[in-house]
Amino acid sequence: MTTPVLHVEGLHAGYDSATVVRDLTLAVNSGEVVALLGPNGAGKTTTLQTISGLVRATAGRVSVNGLDISAHKPSDRAMGGIAHVPEGRGIFAGLTVAEHFRLGHPRERLDADVAYQYFPKLAELSGRRAGVLSGGEQQMLAVGRALARKPQLMLLDELSLGLAPVVVEQLLPIIRKYADETGCGVLLVEQHVNLALGIADRAYLLAHGTIQLDRPAAELREDRTLIAASYLGKPAQPEAGAGTPPGDD
Ligand code: ATP
Repeated sequence: MTTPVLHVEGLHAGYDSATVVRDLTLAVNSGEVVALLGPNGAGKTTTLQTISGLVRATAGRVSVNGLDISAHKPSDRAMGGIAHVPEGRGIFAGLTVAEHFRLGHPRERLDADVAYQYFPKLAELSGRRAGVLSGGEQQMLAVGRALARKPQLMLLDELSLGLAPVVVEQLLPIIRKYADETGCGVLLVEQHVNLALGIADRAYLLAHGTIQLDRPAAELREDRTLIAASYLGKPAQPEAGAGTPPGDD
């Protein structure tokens, strides 16, 4: 069996006294795009932040390519190949597109050409300040910065936030292509279930901080009742009329 790029085992995490993620186990393989779906407040963002080290795990283990990184600082995890694109993009309005590729940890070199290869529009916009870009262009920049680090694992949090679905439809296939061409594993949090399942290989459904479902994306595209039932907190029932999950497009 090959070692997954990301292996999370028995993870517990939260804020102060509130545990948000409970005994969570998941894996992402090389070149695999995995969607992490679930209702608001399920713990999706907390899961990504715990993997990248921004939230401290209270129990469990996070491994990247077989190396236990649970005790590593966020900056070391980034240097070790994790690129996290947070909700809200994390870009700097006053800096130009090109300047975003010169920022970073002193030990880290960003390769703008990789970003420009996957997002040629960014090359055209290289002299523009990020603050004047459209929402879609800003999101390209946020993802482009992640690609420029040539990650082994990308954590993408709600790329669609504030964007028209048509823009997200253009963005997601590029992430698919990057995973296919480089072997990067991708864990994608997304409220637009259809869009995420459109590019994903597999999906986990998270509710109340625990994994409720782990299925191939193709199976979930075929049988929407599986997801609908999990969103509603019921066991999956294959008959028609179970409703549409929230966040569907
Ligand atoms: P959404 O899709 O709404 O972002 P989510 O599945 O990503 O939801 P999280 O953002 O991980 O869920 O939040 C899970 C729970 O943790 C929620 O109850 C939320 O209020 C709580 N929470 C999130 N961030 C913090 C924080 N910084 N301090 C305290 N509680 C938090």
